Amino acid sequence: MQRVFSGIQPTGIPHLGNYLGALRNWAAMQADHDCVFCLVDMHSITMPWNPEDLRRQTLGSAACLLATGIEPTRLYNQSAVSAHARLGWIFNCVSRLGWLNRMTQFKDKAGKNRENHSAGLYVYPNLMAADILAFHATRVPVGDDQKQHIELANDIAQKFNHDMGTEFFPQIEAFIPPAAARVMSLRDGTKKMSKSDPSEQSRIVLTDTPDEIALKIRRAKTDSDALPSDVEGLEDRAEARNLVAIYAAMSDETMSDVLARFGGQGFGPFKNALADLLVEKLGPVATETARLMQNEDHIISVLRAGADRAREISEPIVQEAERLVGFIR
Ligand code: ATP
Ligand code: MG
Repeated sequence: MQRVFSGIQPTGIPHLGNYLGALRNWAAMQADHDCVFCLVDMHSITMPWNPEDLRRQTLGSAACLLATGIEPTRLYNQSAVSAHARLGWIFNCVSRLGWLNRMTQFKDKAGKNRENHSAGLYVYPNLMAADILAFHATRVPVGDDQKQHIELANDIAQKFNHDMGTEFFPQIEAFIPPAAARVMSLRDGTKKMSKSDPSEQSRIVLTDTPDEIALKIRRAKTDSDALPSDVEGLEDRAEARNLVAIYAAMSDETMSDVLARFGGQGFGPFKNALADLLVEKLGPVATETARLMQNEDHIISVLRAGADRAREISEPIVQEAERLVGFIR
């Protein structure tokens, strides 16, 4: 069975982009893959953070992931398993500065004020490579924004294998969903929907109430034209395209199907239908998350059991990597 690894930062409650780009596929892959899913709390401290918020959001994210159908034994938090940090350090020494300088996520997150960001944010892709390769995972379900990081992970694996003279790490294949792999902000169709966007109006989170969903969709930025009757008509209309793509992904239809129904109409009726669809599909996730959140101890015990399993898989792999680089145990 092919091993799958993927992670999500517990920096906030997962949003619709995380759900369509990643989480929904994680749940679906469990049936025929050996899956390992991780709350990457070590990545969450690459940007300024508040310890109490991190703790609360790690538990909240865990509840949310379980509510989307992730099986409890497959879920844990990264910092509880030392393999990540140990292999991450080795990869810091394998990866090249020139490779990291090309990473667009660092440029996006650091903005103009590069000098003032953490060294962790800069070497984040090396740790991400370690996250995956510590499990010898070969398939990684991620959103479109992570494509470049997966390519870097393959470069690191290849260089490690070359330098150590053995084919130890496998090549990784990104699994990027065919639809809604990059859900855009509801306030700006040129920016991806993100947990770190300061505007709460820019994203729908999986614990939003029906009223919050309806309000955010009603306020979502659009242009003033009617919806087009075909997909070509969405060109240069980033916000309209995003809403149609979300509708299509949530209803498992093509964008053409959606436009065949709503083309020629204004955004009013379409937004109402989209809000209803989101409430119908995400409502049960919010209810189940709220139920799970009532028992914090249970969530902690789920994460501990998941960490035990993750340690069992990753420990022999990382010990072998340590032996290959010449470390004595
Ligand atoms: P941050 O802004 O803090 O980086 P994020 O919203 O990008 O948070 P991550 O935890 O970094 O969330 O990503 C978790 C998973 O969700 C990754 O697989 C990522 O590719 C996917 N993802 C994130 N944003 C989107 C989006 N807008 N559309 C589709 N997939 C997304
Ligand atoms: Mg991200």
